[in-house]
Amino acid sequence: MLLTSPIRFAPGVGPRRADAFTALGVTNIGRLIHTLPFRYEDEAAESGVRELDLGRTGAARGEVTATRVAGAGRKRRFEAVLISEGERLDLVWFNGAYLQKKIHPGMRLLVQGKPRTRGAGLQMANPDWEILHEDAEEPERQSARLRPIYAGSADLTTRQIESVIEKVLDEALPQIEDHLPETYRQERELIELRDAYRCIHRPHSREEINAARRRLAFDELLLLQLGVHMKRAWMRTHVQAPALTWSDEIDKRIRKRIPFEFTEGQNASVAEIASDLQDAWPANRLIQGDVGSGKTVVALYAMLMAAASGHQAALMAPTELLAEQHYGTITELLEGADVEVALRTGALSAAERASIDKRLESGDIDLVIGTHALISENTRFHSLAVVVIDEQHRFGVEQRAALRGKAGDNMTPHAIVMTATPIPRTLAYTVFGDLDVSEIKGLPPGRMPVVTRLVTPEQFDEVFDYVRTRLDGDEQAYVVAPAIDAEGDLRDVRTLTTRLEEGPLKGKRVATLHGRMRRDEREHLMGRFRAGLIDAIVATTVIEVGVDVPNATMIVIDHAERFGVAQLHQLRGRVGRGGRRGLCVLMAEAPSPEAEERLNAVVSTTDGFALAEKDLEIRGPGEVIGARQSGEAPFRVAEFPKHMDLLMLARRDAAEWIAQSPMLDHPDEQLLRQRLMKAHGKSLGLVDVA
Ligand code: ADP
Ligand code: MG
Repeated sequence: MLLTSPIRFAPGVGPRRADAFTALGVTNIGRLIHTLPFRYEDEAAESGVRELDLGRTGAARGEVTATRVAGAGRKRRFEAVLISEGERLDLVWFNGAYLQKKIHPGMRLLVQGKPRTRGAGLQMANPDWEILHEDAEEPERQSARLRPIYAGSADLTTRQIESVIEKVLDEALPQIEDHLPETYRQERELIELRDAYRCIHRPHSREEINAARRRLAFDELLLLQLGVHMKRAWMRTHVQAPALTWSDEIDKRIRKRIPFEFTEGQNASVAEIASDLQDAWPANRLIQGDVGSGKTVVALYAMLMAAASGHQAALMAPTELLAEQHYGTITELLEGADVEVALRTGALSAAERASIDKRLESGDIDLVIGTHALISENTRFHSLAVVVIDEQHRFGVEQRAALRGKAGDNMTPHAIVMTATPIPRTLAYTVFGDLDVSEIKGLPPGRMPVVTRLVTPEQFDEVFDYVRTRLDGDEQAYVVAPAIDAEGDLRDVRTLTTRLEEGPLKGKRVATLHGRMRRDEREHLMGRFRAGLIDAIVATTVIEVGVDVPNATMIVIDHAERFGVAQLHQLRGRVGRGGRRGLCVLMAEAPSPEAEERLNAVVSTTDGFALAEKDLEIRGPGEVIGARQSGEAPFRVAEFPKHMDLLMLARRDAAEWIAQSPMLDHPDEQLLRQRLMKAHGKSLGLVDVA
């Protein structure tokens, strides 16, 4: 039997079970060996009843001779008598009445639990149990071990998976080849791949499991990092971008357009961008900056660098409203300059859009602002050198592929992605492995940090009476609820609106905003809010992204315990953009300890980078990444922060490795290269690299 043999050739696997395996993605023996347990159970050594130790977990098997349901109410329990080699063991399951449908006299059971004395005999309370089926060959008496638990399905139990793996493991292991050289492994204290799989499926200790997981985690991280570096090396030699010119003169001219001094953080990012854009290969940079850190002018700087070199630039926003907002800001800053700026949105008539498209193709327009449709709609450009994507969490390989050729024959524009929800840099490198990361630390001077208060729902009137006094002073407010119309006792957008309109905000102009409204309705409403025609907006989280209403100074978030750290921070960023001090009220129902930790984190700091680290600590990277990667888990084994050292090691090694061997084409790298292609060839677009 080979690793490539179909799963149906495995012993004990008939056509039906083969289908069940296939449904789990396990099509051959190799994949079966790759099926990793998600946890392990301690199994005690099996013994006779007489040899069981009081108060220590033990196991025994025997025949059930009697069962009954006893007691009433909360004392209801299921009892059974097990006879094991002539000895009696009493079993009891509290609240276990449902077991009367599962456990019957005559059955053979294997049970595990802590025995105690009861009368003259022994009893196990709430033991784990397993039916020993008559039709199957009864397994040997078990010795103490760590039993792997696999994620099965309705048609395939963890036990069944385990039993097939057990049967093929000895034959499969010797066939597993290691893609890492022995000396390399030893220097890094990584065990051999073959050993790792043995330890994973048949561990003798927790240490073995850890060593095995460490090896497999490292492989995941190294393969991704190698892929990323390989792609870069290839890009540097094969893909061209317009190299922009830059000089003190250009720098001065651009800065003259901006009515304030850049902050240190902005200057640092501008320097990195300017250096990127002078290169003849496409930049791929993520700019992380807190809400209000001033990313727009940094984007403008990059765009003006393109214009100064006679190229074009595009700014893409997630909504039309944001695109309009950017257009407003940018045209104002560029008034009187010799730069042609256009806004291209769905609100334009077909004729207007056609005219803009024509001028984009001829090169008449220098800067264009729009939504993400700008690129996806196959708009043609004369020479697009810089693309800035605003407030986007994810700008993947596909979107980047759409940029190819937009800068002229075989030329790809530079891409700059801006996000207002920072994630720790280390994590950014793992998620967006092939991006460079810049951070805009700090806010423009004179900005007053938003005051954040945690309150209970009992303080509702108190909070909104205060909000009202500030609305009277012509400030504006957001109120956020987790749902539009919720079931049960959850307060939602509708009930909140009514309660506010009839209560503390009576006579104020209150509007609702939520995701079930059409996009243009939503944007129209936000426009009215920005124009001061609405005092308070009651909304779901649709207001989350990038809208700048300087006069909105207060945000009250109801059921704050239901939101994540990043989300709360984003929402809070909607206020405090003008000269007046912003207020963020988190109204929370008695939270769980975890929710409380989240809320306290948000109250304790307004620094998005610090919060990102906190968030990572609280939720772990799976969740943090998950929120961004629309649920696709990047790693099966690697965990953070536990494996952070491995990540750093893998990054360093991959950089060195690819510098030595950019295409991994030495004969002894074949296996490594093959595995890399299999894992990331498609997602990293390496297929056309090699
Ligand atoms: P964000 O990073 O959230 O996109 P914006 O670019 O919208 O932030 O900037 C927020 C506000 O700060 C804008 O009104 C902008 O004009 C202002 N701003 C940006 N940079 C500076 C600066 N260096 N000094 C003073 N004000 C600034
Ligand atoms: Mg912005």
